[in-house]
This record gives sequence, C-alpha cells and structure tokens, in this order.
Amino acid sequence: MIAVPLASAADAGGVAGRAVVVGAKLEQTATGTRLILVSSQPLSATPFALEKPDRLVLDLPEVNFQLPAHTGESGTGLIKSFRFGLFGFGRSRIVIDLAAPAHVASVVNTPLLKDLGSTVTIDLERLDREAFHELAGIAHASTPSATPAGNPAASGASAASSRDPRPLVVIDPGHGGFDPGAMGGNGDVEKTITLEFATTLAAELERRGHVRVALTRNSDTFVSLPDRVRFARDQNAALFVSIHADTLTGVANVQGATVYTLADHASDADAARVAEKENRVDQQAGLDAGENDEEVVSILDDLMRRETKVLSVAFAQKLVQSLEPHVRLNKNPLRSAAFLVLRAPDVPSALVELGYLSSDADRASLASARWREEASRAIANAIEARLQERPAAAASAAAQEN
Ligand SMILES: [Zn+2]
Repeated sequence: MIAVPLASAADAGGVAGRAVVVGAKLEQTATGTRLILVSSQPLSATPFALEKPDRLVLDLPEVNFQLPAHTGESGTGLIKSFRFGLFGFGRSRIVIDLAAPAHVASVVNTPLLKDLGSTVTIDLERLDREAFHELAGIAHASTPSATPAGNPAASGASAASSRDPRPLVVIDPGHGGFDPGAMGGNGDVEKTITLEFATTLAAELERRGHVRVALTRNSDTFVSLPDRVRFARDQNAALFVSIHADTLTGVANVQGATVYTLADHASDADAARVAEKENRVDQQAGLDAGENDEEVVSILDDLMRRETKVLSVAFAQKLVQSLEPHVRLNKNPLRSAAFLVLRAPDVPSALVELGYLSSDADRASLASARWREEASRAIANAIEARLQERPAAAASAAAQEN
C-alpha cells in the first residue's frame, strides 16, 4: 500500500496551483506493470518512446515531486527503474527505463476521498520489438524539443504557438544596448553586426517557411545571457543559434568563421579565451552569471544534457559543413568551450563567430550584404538539415556515447 500523508499533498498543491506528487509505487497487473502516483491534483501525461536503451517518457505539467529518497531506483516487471524531475520551465518528466519493450496503455486519474488529490494510474503493457520500434519512430514526431508538448497547459509559454507545428529556431544576436561587444579598429561594433546578420538569417528562414523563427532581441537593447537561454527554453525551441563576431588585438592574420558548442573544458586556449570574453558581458552588467543555475534542479539533467550535447555537436558539424563552400572558415572551425549562452540543458545550441573584426578580409565580408545573404543561406541549410533528421538517430547516438 501507499503510505503517504495525503493531507499535505492537498495543502501544498493548493498553495502553488502546481501538482505535488507525494507517493509512487509499482505493481504487477494481469496485463503488465502499473505505476501509481499520488498527486495533489489530476495530471495529464503525454507519453512517447525512445529506443537504445528502451525508455518510455511521460511529459507532465510542472510537478513538485516530494518522493522518498531512492524512489524509482529499482523496478518490477516491465519497469527496470524510473527517474523524475523538472524538465525545463513549467514542465516535468518521468523517464521509465524498460526491462522489455512496452507502451503506455492508459493513464487514469481517480479522485481521492474528500478531494484530497488524485491517484494517477499509468498502465504499461508489453509490446513486441517491432511494434516498439515503430512507436519510438512515431513518437519522435512530437518530441518536445521539436514541437511544444502535446498538452498546452504543460508548456505555458508555448501555448500560443502550439497550433503551429513547425519547430522553433531561436536566433540570438550577441550583445546589445550598453554592451557593444567587440570593436573593430574602424568603428565596427559587434552588437550591430550580429543584429544585422541575425535579421538576414531570420528573413531567409522565414522565406523558406519550414520553421518558425524568433530573435532574442530585435533592437539595440541589452539582454542578459540567462534571459537569452530562458527565452529559448520557455518556448521549447528546437535549436538555438547565437551570432557573434570576435576580435583579436595585435593579430591581423587570424580570420574566418568558427562554430562553437558547449563544453566544460575548452577544446583549446583560443576557445577558452572567446568564451571568457563572451561570458564577461553579464558581469559587466552587474549580473551574477550563475544566477539561473537553480532553475533546473532535475536529476534528469544529466541525461538531458547528454542528449542535447549530442544534438548540439551534430548541429555544429552540419554548420561547418554547410558554411565551408561559401564562407572563409577559421583554420580550426569547430571548437567548444564553456559559453553561458549555450547552457540550456534541453535546447541544442551552437554559437557562430562570423569572423574577426581585427581582420581586414573578415570586416569586408561582414560589411557585404551579398556575403551576409550567402552565409545566411548556408546556415539556414544546416538548420533545416538538422531539423529534418530523425531525432531517433540522435537519441541512439546519445545512448552509444554513454
Ligand atoms: Zn560576442
């Protein structure tokens, strides 16, 4: 039986308007395995399947899990183990590691006595491998990274756009407002170049019509790095592309575009320097760069980060490939470092340094409308190619990376 303080569930849930889950147990049924949650209110759950390893994921509205330590670590029947936690803003997830291929046959909310809450009964039934494989394929069409979660209430900020099934690409023009970014010797300012380029890229993507596009800023205003990340996450962006232009003092012959992804340890000293410089922005603005670290306190975080990292690197590789025939690239065009603006755990992200304001050749490129259009087409190609690839491939790549 579930031994839980039901009254406290109702109290806590009533205050925040957010479900509190205080109990979870597994049981075997005649047809499969059942996960029962005790919640302060009914929950909607949108399931999808992932292979390699076999998992069932349940997308939920934001839930405050108050479960005993070690809950979910061991399983029974079809369920090997399960994990739960916040997944981005206003959303939570349960990830079930399967002992055998299975699907969610039903999710039933049953009110508890005296309206003290609800039990949520999630019934899993066995599937054969082929059917599970098919399910994993179908489910990916609605993977939350590509489209808003099935239940609009589960993803508040994206509710307005949930009618448009096209994936959202967030373009992030670096710097702005009192933060000019890098300065070229001749008065070129990074914040202006990034906005100009981002606008060209957004227009190109919109013209093609396969994705939705949003900019983190569309005027000369300051936006903090955490706010840029939050903007993408709140809207369930499928990809995030940050646009910058570097400068090097006293070195005129370093030139070309470079694509960066997030890594704890920089790929090289130059990458570390660039990240350090780009991260300094918020300190200059009097903001604590780590302030939104508390936002995600999920134990799913590691898993999400790993999958997001695989997708981010694949995207960055595609960017380099796509830019190469059209744009002068840095001699080492694919690098990684600890960029704060690339830290969304659930949005694949890359940062493009278009070139060096300290290079005459790069400055001339950046000033050319034709160059900007050509580079935008190349980046748009990479974005579309990335979003068309089946996420299943990335999920299995993530599994293999483990
Ligand atoms: Zn910059």
